[in-house]
Amino acid sequence: MRNRDAFSAQGDIDMRLLVVEDDPDLNRQLVSALEDAGYVVDKAFDGEEGLFLGESEPYDAIVLDLGLPEIDGVTVLERWRRAGLTFPVLILTARDRWSEKVAGFDAGADDYLTKPFHTEELLARLRALVRRAAGHVTSTIEIGDMSIDTRGARVFLDGAPVKMTSHEFRLLSYLSHHADRVISRSELTEHIYDQDFDRDSNTIEVFIGRLRKKIGTDRILTVRGLGYRLVDPTAADGKA
Ligand code: CA
Repeated sequence: MRNRDAFSAQGDIDMRLLVVEDDPDLNRQLVSALEDAGYVVDKAFDGEEGLFLGESEPYDAIVLDLGLPEIDGVTVLERWRRAGLTFPVLILTARDRWSEKVAGFDAGADDYLTKPFHTEELLARLRALVRRAAGHVTSTIEIGDMSIDTRGARVFLDGAPVKMTSHEFRLLSYLSHHADRVISRSELTEHIYDQDFDRDSNTIEVFIGRLRKKIGTDRILTVRGLGYRLVDPTAADGKA
């Protein structure tokens, strides 16, 4: 893996995030900035809704305001962590509330930003959190002769660019973040669509078929009854 474009402003396009923020303007602003950066984004406006979504959906990272109605942010975070949920959480704190910050870290926050903040800084911190959580320190994943630039949403086969739609890219990128592991269709569906999308796992099959046409049938194996596995066909043992 090499980092080819360390200063790109784009996010990792295959990632699904949750924004929990009660201020409607800030919520809208955050969601649109994150969507522009290529993330799939869900939103919640109070602690109860946020707690529920965090417990029920497989987010890659969460932006959590601490001052929330219904259930406060620190309690929400404590409950997620007590439930064994390990997704990275970036907390938003009010200015001059250092004790809030401490409580947030004690509850299991991974990073924080003090309001007001620049969107660019939020994006940069989220990129770092998501990469750290995925165990990758750079934004380009190389699997054999295929390389996937998760920030620029580009794929290269033996150095030549391969064109794909954003859904195809999300799928491939998710598989490559978890290369050599069997990924079920429902896990793929959950990571590729947001909460409002009509989730039909048959569409995953269609996308897999299209991907195989573009990158070769020997890269994505079907594991009968379980799902799919991305492998490096050029490796001697067939592993990524
Ligand atoms: Ca608030």
